[in-house]
Amino acid sequence: MPRRSLQVRPIVGMEIHVQLNTRSKMFCRCPVEFGSEPNTRVCPVCLGLPGALPVMNQKAFEYAVIVGLALRCQISRFTKWDRKSYFYPDLPKNYQISQYDLPLAAGGYFELPADKGARPRRIRIIRAHLEEDAGKNVHDLAGGTGVDLNRAGTPLLEIVTEPDLVSAEEASIFAIELQKLVTYLGVSEGNMQKAQMRFEPNVNLSITEKGTEYRTPIAEVKNLNSFRALRDAVAYEIRRQLDTWAQDHDYVLDKVGKVNCGWREELGRTEIQRTKEEVHDYRYFPDPDLMPVRVDEGWLGRMQDRLPELPISRRARFVREYGLNTAEADMIVADRPTADLFEEAIGERADTATLGRQFVNFWAKHANEGDTTIASLGVEATRMAELSRMTAAGVISATTAQTIAGRMLCDPRPPAEIARAEGLELSRDVSAVERFVDQAITENSKAVGDFKTGGKKSEKAFRYLQGRVIQLSRGSAPPQLVKTLLRKKLVDEGG
Ligand code: ZN
Ligand code: MN
Repeated sequence: MPRRSLQVRPIVGMEIHVQLNTRSKMFCRCPVEFGSEPNTRVCPVCLGLPGALPVMNQKAFEYAVIVGLALRCQISRFTKWDRKSYFYPDLPKNYQISQYDLPLAAGGYFELPADKGARPRRIRIIRAHLEEDAGKNVHDLAGGTGVDLNRAGTPLLEIVTEPDLVSAEEASIFAIELQKLVTYLGVSEGNMQKAQMRFEPNVNLSITEKGTEYRTPIAEVKNLNSFRALRDAVAYEIRRQLDTWAQDHDYVLDKVGKVNCGWREELGRTEIQRTKEEVHDYRYFPDPDLMPVRVDEGWLGRMQDRLPELPISRRARFVREYGLNTAEADMIVADRPTADLFEEAIGERADTATLGRQFVNFWAKHANEGDTTIASLGVEATRMAELSRMTAAGVISATTAQTIAGRMLCDPRPPAEIARAEGLELSRDVSAVERFVDQAITENSKAVGDFKTGGKKSEKAFRYLQGRVIQLSRGSAPPQLVKTLLRKKLVDEGG
């Protein structure tokens, strides 16, 4: 195929549904719970029984506005609720309460971190609105299919982007960063296993051949619930559309229109679901049972004040102010209480660079092992700060710091006390270290010989001898002192 002469540019937009972290549902008092006995978290409102009256969940509205502000959107001072009518077994009212022409937020953007030096990528946000989730069809029953309505009425925030994403990779980065944002804001758990975030990318291509531009039909892939499915589905669509167009230049948006498809994970491909002619007419109209919402300036100002520093800015600041590298900053900032703990420890006079290393090297490891976060380990900022200072000052070695950190998880004493009690402090007794150096030299004549040959072998031999000394001292010999003494003995005194 004459692909060499083609310019192909993917155009990807996204619709994301984020489940908000409220205790009760969007328009009734039923609890939002995952994994309960089917149809036990329901009431006349979410069951859609005639005459039941919905009442808006104030918390859900607040959370939605906070996300809207974080996405730099305009927040509507007047917003209303609309019925989106369609028939489906998991939708008992035969309509979904959503927002049609007056969404609560519109016209913002979300910045994606870029490579070093480059400006962040800005993905424009068209709108964000609140709506309720449908129930769930349960297909694996002996008697056939059932409907579980526990999920019906769960508050969802739908976010729609402009088609500013340029690749499958970027689509998945966008989704990951958005998950970080909503968990950071505390408005959603963003838990993918519980389907709390669902993605619907729309994908097409701009193909330029011999000066003529072609646009392939837009394919919207429905209901993806993992970052991997999102990336794979977009990548697949990009390939499929290019192949299809290459065989038939009439495969363009103007002639074919939009298509909806589903992702068949096990087959690694998309499947067209319905074509343009079958697209629903949702017959939107204002819900007569719900009051429109007016947002006043004072309240909006208070929401603005509650907005924390966003992850992307905080990461950049951690690199700038604390001298962390991007990976360290990324890891620490990913969890808000952990980033707060880090800064609290710095306030407690931690050695910043050492603290950063210790967060990444062993505090994170302990958190992973306990399937928790560093902030939830229960080790106070003051003690973490002290451990970092002891390490930086050479009172303990980096390895010993790791051992002490392990003890600190279940021993509430300050790290210095633990080190003293367990004899883990580095020795300040120079003559004792000197004796270990002498012993190592006597016992390892081959390494000493290698050292004297010079070159690559020499360095390796030196490191080996250094290790022997530290081992002989049972870790108490300060590494820097060992180096100095060893070099002195081997070079100046000629072994
Ligand atoms: Zn209910
Ligand atoms: Mn929706």
